[in-house]
Amino acid sequence: MRKVGIYYAFWAHEWDVDFVPYIKKVGKLGFDQLELNGGTIVHMTAQQQRDLKSLADEHGLTLSYGIGLQKPFDVASLDASVRRRGIDFMKKMIDAVAIMGGGMIGGTIYGYWPSTLPEELDSKQPCWDQSIKSMKELASYAGERNVLLNVEVINRFEQFLINDSHEALAYVQEVDHPACRILLDTFHMNIEEDSFTEAIHRVGPYLAAFHLGETNRKTPGTGRMPWAEIKQALDDINFDGPMVMEPFVMKGGQIGRDIGVWRDIVKDPDLDTLAAEAASFVRNNLC
Ligand code: MN
Repeated sequence: MRKVGIYYAFWAHEWDVDFVPYIKKVGKLGFDQLELNGGTIVHMTAQQQRDLKSLADEHGLTLSYGIGLQKPFDVASLDASVRRRGIDFMKKMIDAVAIMGGGMIGGTIYGYWPSTLPEELDSKQPCWDQSIKSMKELASYAGERNVLLNVEVINRFEQFLINDSHEALAYVQEVDHPACRILLDTFHMNIEEDSFTEAIHRVGPYLAAFHLGETNRKTPGTGRMPWAEIKQALDDINFDGPMVMEPFVMKGGQIGRDIGVWRDIVKDPDLDTLAAEAASFVRNNLC
């Protein structure tokens, strides 16, 4: 049975928050997994990291981690000192996750976010090559520490290196390490893929995690995403990774700004109820 998870940022306006309240409540709302900000745990002490993991264990929750690397940490940069800073930051994150028992880190871990092709370039190839080199080093480091690095396919308006399933497959095959896998997200797929089925079949055994959201990033089950088709395709490839929903419905704060939420997408939302209903929808329709 696939695990059902949610990204904590559904309830938050800022990326750096205390995760304890979310760990205490998401199990009751019907979730098996909570995705946290990988950037935040880097700045915690080892004891704080262990305490967070213990609390998650007490509540029967699996933790996973998401990150969109910032520009000063761009592991695809043409500037070697920027790449080194990014690689060192990712290694600290991998160390933190290793202390917390290992697990998955996903997101824009192969470049930075949000990003666009450098003005002086006409092709992404130089950035791609640097990214592959960085990821080979990171995957090797992660693999020795029971950590999986999942490159997330992100739409063209937020990122330029890996925009669809073809590029993701080429990327992980070039990295060629079992600790580097793929994360697909229905919100981005809806923009870039010709077909949900073909994209899922294409990445097949390389698909390690799946993000869920409606076309406007509302909670799963409230929009027009073709969930039955998506479930069938996941079944076809025997996908057994986590299904983590990543809804955003509130404007405000740095999260609202970074995600591009400029209006309240749901008026006066009861977030816990929306989350619980979505968990139930996913369990009944996608697991
Ligand atoms: Mn996502």
